[in-house]
Amino acid sequence: MNKNRPEKNLLDKLPEKLRDRIIRIVFPFLTAYDSNGNIQKNTFWTSIPEAWRNRFGIEMFREISKELRRCERKDVRALCIKEKFGVIDVTLTSYPGKILDILRKYIQISAKVCYKCGGDADGHTISWIYPMCGECFEAMDDKSKRRLGFKFDINDPLEYDNDEYDYGHNVPKHPIHGEYD
Ligand SMILES: [Zn+2]
Repeated sequence: MNKNRPEKNLLDKLPEKLRDRIIRIVFPFLTAYDSNGNIQKNTFWTSIPEAWRNRFGIEMFREISKELRRCERKDVRALCIKEKFGVIDVTLTSYPGKILDILRKYIQISAKVCYKCGGDADGHTISWIYPMCGECFEAMDDKSKRRLGFKFDINDPLEYDNDEYDYGHNVPKHPIHGEYD
């Protein structure tokens, strides 16, 4: 059993409506708006895969929030938060202060956290890149296992240099893309 598999996070134990209300207060940049500028029912909280939410979600958003407060940038908000190339990808309207350093830190952290259970990853799937633990990979059906493939190797996004980031943001081009062994 993967020892570092996290418990369900505290926020997701609350009823959704209450959870989203708390998130809009504590992490205002996660508030989602429609095209008319009206506040949406949901927030960007659920845009992170649940396993990652459980392992590092609150911590990551707390750090971003703190830095935005330090920079007095209440205007900054999330545009998109998702998994991309096996790492967490956070797109904000602006990246003041040390925000990019914080995002890069969590890119590195997410690359080593199982996408399915939130425990320590043993490697990553190959055709689509997801960091995963051996147990979660083994638990999949044979067809998925054949389709995805698995490599016992932890991605090291530290290898990405700054030129590898798309749009000057935090999205790394995955160095292992196209490797099928
Ligand atoms: Zn796992």
